[in-house]
Amino acid sequence: MAVSDHVDFNGFMEGVNRRNPHQPEFVQAVQEVAEDIFPFLDSNEEYHSQQILRRIAEPDRVVSFRVCWEDDNGNIRVQRGWRVQNNNAIGPYKGGIRFHPSVTESVLKFLAFEQTFKNALTGLPMGGGKGGSNFNPKGKSVREIMRFCQSFMTELYRHIGADVDVPAGDIGVGGREIGYMFGQYKRITNQFTGVLTGKGLEYGGSLIRPEATGYGAVYFLANMLATKDQDLVGKTAVISGSGNVATHAAEKIVQLGGKVLTLSDSGGFIHDPDGLSQEKIDWVKTHKTHRRGRIEEYVEAFPGATFTAGKTPWGVPCDVALPCATQNELLGEDAKTLIANGVQAVSEGANMPTDLDGVHAFRGAKILFAPGKAANAGGVAVSGLEMSQNSERRSWKEEELQQMLKDIMAGIHKSCETYGRQGDGYIDYVKGANIGGFKKVADAMLAFGVV
Ligand code: GLU
Repeated sequence: MAVSDHVDFNGFMEGVNRRNPHQPEFVQAVQEVAEDIFPFLDSNEEYHSQQILRRIAEPDRVVSFRVCWEDDNGNIRVQRGWRVQNNNAIGPYKGGIRFHPSVTESVLKFLAFEQTFKNALTGLPMGGGKGGSNFNPKGKSVREIMRFCQSFMTELYRHIGADVDVPAGDIGVGGREIGYMFGQYKRITNQFTGVLTGKGLEYGGSLIRPEATGYGAVYFLANMLATKDQDLVGKTAVISGSGNVATHAAEKIVQLGGKVLTLSDSGGFIHDPDGLSQEKIDWVKTHKTHRRGRIEEYVEAFPGATFTAGKTPWGVPCDVALPCATQNELLGEDAKTLIANGVQAVSEGANMPTDLDGVHAFRGAKILFAPGKAANAGGVAVSGLEMSQNSERRSWKEEELQQMLKDIMAGIHKSCETYGRQGDGYIDYVKGANIGGFKKVADAMLAFGVV
């Protein structure tokens, strides 16, 4: 009898726990996938005997390095940087770089693991990776950010490449940081290649990349509502976060006729009962992204709104909810509150924003619930299109890219439907995304043999 025959779900998770001590986020992400894959393995013995899930849940490699930089006062600062290359069965490693004090190896391993499934779901040839540092950009001067990015890339450059591993942005890393890192890569290697995505338009970036994650999460939400013959017109939306994903999700909800009630940051949330207009969303974009201010100042600019310090917005009654801030920001209790208040659909703009209890609560109540690996894949999908444009040395027009993004989100929705539709008609998007993403990567891995 093969060793794998003895391994049940509990045994598998015990092993994941034992091999990854003090890495709760990574264990959580693996468990969320394993809960769906184990029943699927029963009727797919080859994946089981070839230990495919066990192999995907062990990153190909984790590179950790020191990042030294000098602050404006002449102090030498030391940070830790990582690149987690989880799986390249279907394409070069691909995934963002996160700069935030909460970054640990566990966080990046969970993100790289999730990215593997997400990227497979897009249908584009991209493997899964993630990188970052515990560097805190908050309060740093522009020159400090530049020096940090250059130092980070001075180590990272040897591990990446247009056909090897293609990083992009994530929390704390936007167009400005990508510019500094691309400039340093080019300077060290003397190569102008598509080694990063999220670049400026002048040097190989793609139109609609900044909008893609938020817009994609709303397209996915609209696809989910359409299965119930509904749309977003007149629906109230509660959104967390106020960065790139949240503001563009808000923008698309408004364009499709919905009413956005909230946004948030680490300080608390704003509630605007009149709804956020495009003008208010533009104010947030300028205030948060360009001036790096706090969301609480919204109530000074728009006095009809209120600010609640230290809280998340999940207690505000709504038809649809979009967690677009960070991991584990929507807990089991919050999910129960949303359900009690009549939420109809939840679309995750962030990566793993809902904890396991929350996921179980939404699925148990048969709420339309789209996990991040499906709903927020629009960002990396347009990154994949940026890679294609760079390889072909061309750039597509905005309308072409908008259509491609819509089509990719509809394709992901279709995969979730194919693998997640239950006997009673309910579409379990978590199951659908997990199995759909897994199958593609698994089939490629089978073709390679034991590697
Ligand atoms: N950081 C984004 C994500 O979580 C985008 C990654 C990319 O464009 O490579 O999917």
